[in-house]
Formats: sequence, C-alpha cells, structure tokens
Amino acid sequence: MRYFADYHTHTNFSGDSEAPMELMVKRAIELGLSELVFTDHVDYDYADPVFENIDFDDYLKHYHSVKEKYRRDIKVLMGVEIGFQPHVEPRIEQLLSRLNFDFVIYSTHMADQLDFYTGAFFDGKERNTAYQRYFENVIQSINKPANFNVYGHLDFIVRYGDYDSKVLSYLEHAEIIDKILQTLIYNGCGIEINTSGYRYGLSHMHPQEDIIRRYKKLGGEIITVGSDAHRPGDLCADFNDAYTLLREAGFKYINAYEQRKPRFVKIP
Ligand SMILES: [Zn+2]
Ligand SMILES: [Zn+2]
Repeated sequence: MRYFADYHTHTNFSGDSEAPMELMVKRAIELGLSELVFTDHVDYDYADPVFENIDFDDYLKHYHSVKEKYRRDIKVLMGVEIGFQPHVEPRIEQLLSRLNFDFVIYSTHMADQLDFYTGAFFDGKERNTAYQRYFENVIQSINKPANFNVYGHLDFIVRYGDYDSKVLSYLEHAEIIDKILQTLIYNGCGIEINTSGYRYGLSHMHPQEDIIRRYKKLGGEIITVGSDAHRPGDLCADFNDAYTLLREAGFKYINAYEQRKPRFVKIP
C-alpha cells in the first residue's frame, strides 16, 4: 500500500474549487487509495459568501452517484470542513444533526469575525499578538467535542499576515497550544496533518513539526492525513513526507473515520 487515503479534499461544491467529484475519485483510484473523503467548505457568515453553504440536495445526488459507481474500487466518504465561529454554532449544530457525515473537520478561517485572507484580522497587531489571539479563537471552538473529529490545519494563521518572517514559535505560544492539544486529547478528538503548507510556500506542513511532536508527547494518538487538494493533481501531495514525519515522531497509526467513529490504520 503506497498511500492509504486522503482525509482533506475539496470539490466544486467548495467555492474555491472547480474539481468535479468524479475526477477526484478517478485520481484517487489511480493513486491506489483505499478511501477518499470529501471535506467541502461550510463557512457560515464568512467574509466571502461563496464559502457560506453547499446545495446539499445537489451534493448528495452527486456524492451517492460516485460512491456507488466506484464502490468496487474505493470507499468514498462524506466529510465536511466547517469554519467555526462561536456566533454560528447553532447553525453548525443544525447542519450536523441534519446530515450524516462520516467525518467532520473544524477549522478556524476567521477570528473575532475578522478575515485572515484580506488582512483585516492582522490590522494593528504585532505578529505574536495576532497568533496568540488566533489560538484563543481556536480554544473557543473545541469545547463541544461531540460536534467534530479533528481540528484542521492547526497553525493555519502563519500563512497570512504581512509580516517579514512568517514563523510561529511553539515556545512563545506553548501554554495555549498545549491547552488546545490537551483539550483535544481529553475529548477524544484529534488533529490532522495537512500537507498544503508546502503548496503555500511554507517550509512545513500544518501543523509544524514541533507541534506534532508535542501532541504525541502529551498522549495524542488520533491523527488524519490530508492534502487539502482543491484539484485532482494535488491529492496525496507530499504524503510520503507526512508519513515519514509521523513515524519519526513516534506514531504507528493514522486514523480513518466512518459514521464519525475513528479506526486506527497502520501508517503505510
Ligand atoms: Zn481550511
Ligand atoms: Zn480545506
């Protein structure tokens, strides 16, 4: 087995992807994957409304059709990447009770209702103040473990902000990062390794290596591996590096999910 699965992927049901589900599935089969999970964006009250919602009637039609068509070749699963903001929590809960997702990622794409992408969140903030405030927003999102499975791209904030150097020091934010990791572990939730950092010009995946090692040291076991591909060509990008990093950090297993229940799979 070369790669096991890709647990973070987007299709044209996400506002920032044009990839039809079927092309993603075909590429996943070419790669020899056992499983492919779609995690399209739902970001209620996001700065750019194209991420707000998915036409789930249409989505489910396409999803069930590809799942059935390729069921002998690959297990296709329905996940979602939800952009958490405290004031939209009732809408998130409504969505999660209405639809039967196999896997739920929570991500922080905005903090204090300010956008990272346009820079609004960073206005008037020193780098470390911005990073700290971002992690304080993450803390608010992880208090209801029943709602999600893994936390997405935990140090995502380093991608943005107009700073000379985009380096996040674990040590400078150790207290709050540890609190996040310990809360996730205590609640039976996990983190993901998201390999898209490389594609954004960073020298690391999300989260960076010292945070992954710290997670392991604190007793973290649940971890999924995802590319955050928005097109077929990015599926499983840099997964060999991710698997190597995990092995070196002491992990033997990665996770798969079905009906929101985790299963441990040996790292290929
Ligand atoms: Zn994301
Ligand atoms: Zn994503």
